[in-house]
Amino acid sequence: MADTATAPRDRAHRASKRYIFAWGDGHAEGHGEMKDLLGGKGAGLAEMTNAGLPVPAGFTITTAACNDYFEAGERLPDGLWDDVLEAMHEVEERSGKGFGDPRNPLLVSVRSGAKFSMPGMMDTVLNLGLNDETLHGLIALTGNERFGWDAYRRFIQMFGRIVLGIDGAAFDEALDAAKRARGAEQDTDLDAAALGDVVDTFKAIVQRETGRAFPTDPYEQLDLAIKAVFASWFGKRAHDYREYNKIPHDLGTAVNVVTMVFGNMGDDSGTGVAFTRDPNTGEKALYGEYLTNAQGEDVVAGIRTPQKIAQLARDLPQAYGEFQGIAERLERHYRDVQDLEFTIERGRLYMLQTRSAKRTAAAAVRIAVDMVEQGIITKEEALQRIEPAHVDQLLRDQFDPKARAAATRIAKGLNASPGAAVGRAVFSADTAVEWAGRGERVILVRIETSPDDFHGMAVAQGILTARGGATSHAAVVARQIGKPCVAGVHELQVNYATGSAAANGLTFSQGDPISLDGSTGEVFVGALPTVSARFEDQPDLQRILGWADEIRRLQVWTNADKPEEAAQARRYGAQGIGLCRTEHMFREGERLDIVRGAILVAFAATRAKTGQVAGGSLDADERSAIATFDEAMGKLEALQQGDFEGIFRAMDGLPVVIRLIDPPLHEFLPNREELIEEVTRLRTLGTPEDDPEYASARRLLAAADALHEQNPMLGLRGCRLGLMIPDFVKVQTRAILNAQIAVKRAGGDPHAEIMIPLVGHVNELKETRRLLEAEAKAVESAAQAEGPISVDYKFGTMIEIPRACWVADEIAEHAEFFSFGTNDLTQMTFGYSRDDAEGGFLLKYVEDKILPANPFQTLDPVIISEMEMTVSKGRAARPDLKVGICGEHGGDPASIAACHRLGLNYVSCSPFRVPVARLAAAQAALAGGERDT
Ligand code: PEP
Ligand code: MG
Repeated sequence: MADTATAPRDRAHRASKRYIFAWGDGHAEGHGEMKDLLGGKGAGLAEMTNAGLPVPAGFTITTAACNDYFEAGERLPDGLWDDVLEAMHEVEERSGKGFGDPRNPLLVSVRSGAKFSMPGMMDTVLNLGLNDETLHGLIALTGNERFGWDAYRRFIQMFGRIVLGIDGAAFDEALDAAKRARGAEQDTDLDAAALGDVVDTFKAIVQRETGRAFPTDPYEQLDLAIKAVFASWFGKRAHDYREYNKIPHDLGTAVNVVTMVFGNMGDDSGTGVAFTRDPNTGEKALYGEYLTNAQGEDVVAGIRTPQKIAQLARDLPQAYGEFQGIAERLERHYRDVQDLEFTIERGRLYMLQTRSAKRTAAAAVRIAVDMVEQGIITKEEALQRIEPAHVDQLLRDQFDPKARAAATRIAKGLNASPGAAVGRAVFSADTAVEWAGRGERVILVRIETSPDDFHGMAVAQGILTARGGATSHAAVVARQIGKPCVAGVHELQVNYATGSAAANGLTFSQGDPISLDGSTGEVFVGALPTVSARFEDQPDLQRILGWADEIRRLQVWTNADKPEEAAQARRYGAQGIGLCRTEHMFREGERLDIVRGAILVAFAATRAKTGQVAGGSLDADERSAIATFDEAMGKLEALQQGDFEGIFRAMDGLPVVIRLIDPPLHEFLPNREELIEEVTRLRTLGTPEDDPEYASARRLLAAADALHEQNPMLGLRGCRLGLMIPDFVKVQTRAILNAQIAVKRAGGDPHAEIMIPLVGHVNELKETRRLLEAEAKAVESAAQAEGPISVDYKFGTMIEIPRACWVADEIAEHAEFFSFGTNDLTQMTFGYSRDDAEGGFLLKYVEDKILPANPFQTLDPVIISEMEMTVSKGRAARPDLKVGICGEHGGDPASIAACHRLGLNYVSCSPFRVPVARLAAAQAALAGGERDT
């Protein structure tokens, strides 16, 4: 293919800037690298022309023109219209046709095209230039009267809806009425005379709705259409789509004015869309659909059921052969799978569009691996092509095979986008949003979707449509946003009025649970149970992640509290545990009662022990408190040791960071309000004071009262707890070290790292460490007495209080590792309660753009600065300081990139996110140009 990165050709212009880039006759003024200015479509058309492909002549009006148009209060920049006229004259010359010339009319399409593909979200007008005179020229030239009238009615309909803002239903109803009156089933059953009547009706609709006649001057049509396409950039669906996909709103759209070629000029004409590989599975075979004697919108809208692309080889072998060759060349040229639009006009093939194809997660992975094997791309490129979300999707749940085999199938349609989805049926996008907003899982059921349904699709678990093919709107959008979709379920009768749907004698109504299998196209009654997708069965994904491991510098650890979680994370590739929240085990089995028993006497017992150390004597109550407390702590120690042994075994050979008790103690007691209610109820019933249930409720309430704090997240928690009641952390330290010794003696290779949470002042750490080191020494010497053993452990701290960042150098003197607890660090830096903000103002803040993103999901730049200062101060004091992150941000790709830049040693995230983090860490290394050494 031709070299496409040459400088754009010059063009004289009347406007103050150059807004126009034209192409035709094998030459283009722009090229494929100019997506910012020409949009993806314009850049693609220029590139295809430069590459010598058959592209109909035309020109692009740049995104800068769109932005300047809005800047000037929706006025075309001075001189732009003159430049448009000049460019139109060139198109006339190149096509040998005249715009508005009744003898040889040039018709054009006016198409939107932004930098990033936004399929179906903006507007396009086809057949522009038609009026009563040019129509007759078209008929005379083609000798096809029906085609001419059909093109004209389509034009009025499209122009009326998009440019003149008339409700499309008015035209649809008129067309349906015409079909009914003539007993026609399909649009194609209407003859020229009938279509002529439809044209008259459509013109009357325009007159009625706008108070003026349909504009017949082609240049007025062009002016209005260009402005309408600009305006569609700020249309609701385009806006919603950009919000969802995080596309900036200030890019603007380009407008492409392209010579129309007609796929509806008879049986030697057609139009279609095709992918160079299967976008669902990644299989290397042309995949797509086409319709003979049709225009592009017929394929996309799913109005007629298209043929498979292979059929084209039989119908029009020469055009198919040419198309196949072009598809292959384009894929090699762009080194990626292409999504192609083509039209065949009387046997002659025209290429209308090429772009990088949207694909499912499974296809993305397979294509990347295949292309590396075929020598088309490098491993690094393959890694950059996979989105972290793709990895996530591949690990999504599937239906439990047994439940699936026993389930009642409602119907089967097209497997348009893979995955299992379970939810309650809703029949409109607005209902989907409303129900999802109150926490319901929904399946959006539509006859067919349009871009206006995007907001509903985005919140639904899955999408089900009665009409449309693999390239219908529902299918394309669902694949892109990673939602399971079953499309084109022909037997499904959807009734919006009653909010119900039926197929094969089974009916479901709004609110009824249904299950979709987007991989097989099946729809089932009820909510089927799902099972996790098996990583082990996905060799391509594992290969990609293997390449990621070769490239990334960050290690990926996991947050796991139980041996099963640790084992799962390890299967996913975790290289250690970065956070084991010990208190999560306190709720398991009998532990909660033991913990509560200890809490009830913890303060009394600790005071008594302190008095005893100071030489005081103990009364009976004090002795009893100590005995009760020590008994409970002894039980807890034994249980925790068992837990830790399991975790060490699961993570044999890898580091395990165990955090000492962190949350405020009231979290282990029953809810205080409920206790008050219970005590009041028992008292009102006249329950005797010594009734065990009543006495226990009163004791728990007294403890809850004593522990009650106005701001518990800023109160007695973290290391403060260990300093107030040292036995809590001493017992945990003993359990950790004895577990380690036991596993080691059994031949294992455990590595314990003890993490002290919520340190804000260095003295908190110093004092805690002093206590724990004494304990560790005692454990060690007791162990040595039973036989020689080396006990390997480290002490480190979490950095989760802003003050700790400022004194990180002091803290590093006493910590062998830091782990950023960015959940608390965000909470305390922003002053937002992490338990309340997301249910309250925070999401609204994000919606209203007061905040660019939810700081509890993606690291805020100020938090990153705090981390940067911490790393630099900490490593200045202790050069070999190991630093990681264990807040939720450790599994977020953008935050992982920041951690890479900061030079952290590892990120730690939930087991399920480990594969995503492996990829994201490699992508961060590639973006930073670094390689593992
Ligand atoms: C943190 O604060 O980021 C953290 C990991 O600890 P937790 O979420 O348990 O407070
Ligand atoms: Mg924390």
